[in-house]
Amino acid sequence: MDPKDVEKMLVRCRHCNRFEYWAEMRWRHGFCFCRKCYKAVYESETGKLYEWDDLDGPTPSAEEIAAATETEKAYAAIGRG
Ligand SMILES: [Zn+2]
Repeated sequence: MDPKDVEKMLVRCRHCNRFEYWAEMRWRHGFCFCRKCYKAVYESETGKLYEWDDLDGPTPSAEEIAAATETEKAYAAIGRG
């Protein structure tokens, strides 16, 4: 798979159930979070505002989310979701 495709690949965040770019997922305590959840976890743990801008940037578009949802359905249909 092309590295560009991997960056654009969407995964569902287990915490908020929203799609996020795979390349933008963040790890904390062995768990994988989307940018929104990561920021919320960081801020609730530290009691400080997340002050860096690395969580900004493009978020998945409606078209990308629709395509990922279709892929997910296709996998579910063959029992590999
Ligand atoms: Zn999330």
